[in-house]
Amino acid sequence: MNFDDNGAPWLIGAPPDEPAPALARDLEVDIAIIGGGFTGVSTAYHLSRRFPDRGIALIEAKRLANGASGRNGGLMLNGITVKDHDPDLMAREYAMTTAAIDAIEALIHEHGLAVRMRRTGCLHISPTARSAEEAHARVEQLVARGIPLRFVTSSLRGAHGAVLDPNEGMLNGVDLIRAMRPLLVAQGVQIYESTPVVRVREGQTIELATATHTVRARAIVIATSGYTPRLGYFRTGVLPVISHVIATDPVPREVLARVGLDEVAGFFDDLPRLAYCSIDDAGRVIFGGGTTAAYGYRFGNQTTCAPRDDDAATRAMRKTLVSYIPELADTPIRHRWSGPLDLTLVRHCAMGVMGSHRNVYYAVGYSGHGIVLANLAGRVLTDLYAGAHEPWRDCAFYMKRPSGIPPEPMRWLGYHLYTRLTGGSPWKRPG
Ligand SMILES: Cc1cc2nc3c(=O)[nH]c(=O)nc-3n(C[C@H](O)[C@H](O)[C@H](O)COP(=O)(O)OP(=O)(O)OC[C@H]3O[C@@H](n4cnc5c(N)ncnc54)[C@H](O)[C@@H]3O)c2cc1C
Repeated sequence: MNFDDNGAPWLIGAPPDEPAPALARDLEVDIAIIGGGFTGVSTAYHLSRRFPDRGIALIEAKRLANGASGRNGGLMLNGITVKDHDPDLMAREYAMTTAAIDAIEALIHEHGLAVRMRRTGCLHISPTARSAEEAHARVEQLVARGIPLRFVTSSLRGAHGAVLDPNEGMLNGVDLIRAMRPLLVAQGVQIYESTPVVRVREGQTIELATATHTVRARAIVIATSGYTPRLGYFRTGVLPVISHVIATDPVPREVLARVGLDEVAGFFDDLPRLAYCSIDDAGRVIFGGGTTAAYGYRFGNQTTCAPRDDDAATRAMRKTLVSYIPELADTPIRHRWSGPLDLTLVRHCAMGVMGSHRNVYYAVGYSGHGIVLANLAGRVLTDLYAGAHEPWRDCAFYMKRPSGIPPEPMRWLGYHLYTRLTGGSPWKRPG
């Protein structure tokens, strides 16, 4: 297994963080959580709060927040996918995810955490007249259901309008996870970093093998997002698609104001190679997607990108960024990085419990829409562990088992054929 380093600017200015030592002995616990991103950390937090007497270990291959949670686009979004269109379903999911954003805010306030988070709203851009019309109509349906969206004009070039969601925002995931480390430790969670789990043997007691030791646990939590197929789970359910991201130097506020981005957290569009953009606290413009080259799949579920893909992706993303914001044509790109998305065919996450002993808990498949949901996962999985399934039974992710993605070499061929066939002119962007 190969875990690359996080190169995202979310690390700049983040509080210093002393990593926990690697596992250096065999261990026996009630619950072992694999993965130190939002899913693993929120699950460790809620489980240890609700079950203070249980032995809980959080095992991370590299460092907390090294995965998608520390290297994403930073947009805290409502809904469980950008693909939903049924207004009643959207309204229910909106209520659930807005409450989840409220819960992130409440956690930060309750513990006085130093986390850079702005709940200043996001713009969902319509890049064509037709999508603007549809978005406008949808806003009216959702407003009628009590959701505070607004259809607004946008100064981004080529945008035919945008939906403003005032409840959304921007979150620095490195800050949140680092700030939560002392809370977990205080609640008795044992954290082991630099400890990849290389094999899982299920049973009444589950055995996790690391390179040198064994962890025995009565239950485990799979919190490994895009890395999950390499661990041996959801091989036909989760496709690790590498998403490339770039960031500028801090951009002056007047420039951001000219394009209407000084007071919102960011924007995303609704084209098939979804473009996403957030503005961090220093004014850096963080931009991902927006072009076929910005996404990639590497044979055998690899989660690191090839350097040559990085160059091509950077050039292509910069072009898309400038097509939306021509004012940035001369602004240098200072950072570039990538991270694995855990795509499912239905484009939304799955949370549940499985295994012949019903002791393998999982929350995976966020499909690029996981900042809010992976933080919610801790509450969902803790309820399921407690046997309280009722609150989540109606959710689209409840007990779903993603599947349908063929094995190699069809998986690789399918991805590349699909992107070649669908990457062309019908979805050309403005400019
Ligand atoms: C480039 C990018 C941009 C994104 N932008 C957005 C966005 O703007 N808005 C949004 O809502 N979502 C976004 N997402 C998605 C969101 O970041 C993720 O859905 C979310 O962070 C998933 O959290 P997680 O804890 O499940 O996974 P991760 O944060 O990936 O954590 C999984 C952890 O498991 C560890 N691990 C893996 N295998 C093992 C093993 N065998 N043993 C031990 N540890 C292991 C990894 O090292 C990693 O730290 C983006 C994702 C990416 C990659």
